[in-house]
Amino acid sequence: MKAAVVTSFTAPLEVGERDIPEPATGEVLVRLETCGLCHTDIHAARGDWPVKPGLPFIPGHEGVGIIEKLGTGVTHRSIGERVALPWLGYACGECRYCIDGRETLCEQQHNSGYSVDGGFAEYAVASAKHVVTVPDGVTSLDAAPLTCAGVTTYKALKVAGIVPTERVAVFGIGGLGHLAVQYARLMGGSVIAVDIEQPKLELARELGADHLVNAAEVDPVATIQDLGGADVAVVLAASPRVFEQAFSSLSRGGRLICVALPKDEKMSVSIFETVLKGISIIGSIVGTRQDLAEVFALHAAGRTRIIAEGRKLDEVNEAMAEVLSGAVLARLVFEY
Ligand code: ZN
Ligand code: ZN
Repeated sequence: MKAAVVTSFTAPLEVGERDIPEPATGEVLVRLETCGLCHTDIHAARGDWPVKPGLPFIPGHEGVGIIEKLGTGVTHRSIGERVALPWLGYACGECRYCIDGRETLCEQQHNSGYSVDGGFAEYAVASAKHVVTVPDGVTSLDAAPLTCAGVTTYKALKVAGIVPTERVAVFGIGGLGHLAVQYARLMGGSVIAVDIEQPKLELARELGADHLVNAAEVDPVATIQDLGGADVAVVLAASPRVFEQAFSSLSRGGRLICVALPKDEKMSVSIFETVLKGISIIGSIVGTRQDLAEVFALHAAGRTRIIAEGRKLDEVNEAMAEVLSGAVLARLVFEY
């Protein structure tokens, strides 16, 4: 099978032939049709974060494909079924987090494209219990970005507990942000889109944003405070400075939802303001299998739109450079 492999944190990915893996007990073999390219894959390939993946490995946590083989003991999946392979590749199912619906906090978890091989290949094996069925109404091109960008922003807005009279500021429009705008609208909030690229802001407007803030041209904090402040600020841009701006743009009782994972991972915020304004700072990591099922159901019902462009796996290094340049409107998806 063709695969894009990280062999060094300082070299480009190597695209070459690898053996098709065999599904172990409890696993399925999936012939991939698509896999989205998330900023996390670039961090993984460069070993940017404190916990690094073991080398060599295959990135990709937005894989979508058809089950071709069942490992022993798999009874609830069938050959020919179309499934998604999300970041949460496996969770134990027995710890306090798994039992009470917070499986994304499981300490035994495996992560696709990080601690286990992911979807930048024609085939991948995955835990049969942790792949998520893709409904017929969702194309594989659309399902890929929903598998991380979709579920991650949907969950972030769920934990924000938005009510319809609230203003939601989305910092960073792109793969995640273009979906965050739509989910915030669906949950009833009014939306302030913040970015430094005008075409991305125009896309946010098309998808329902009420206010656009170009942070390259105006001070986003003053602009949002002039609008009355944000009740919820979701940070999808991988820069500590943006987290600080988002914090300062909140109104009293505001919630800062931290989603992006910058390489330089410290932010500085006022304790005084946090206490006096009753601000909550919340971390949100991807979503559960149930969250992803809900994301797929919303899309199948025609309530969200995906902006994605197809690429070939041979172009993986060029595609990563494109993402880093800021030129990609929303999502690039490898098609096999
Ligand atoms: Zn991702
Ligand atoms: Zn667990």
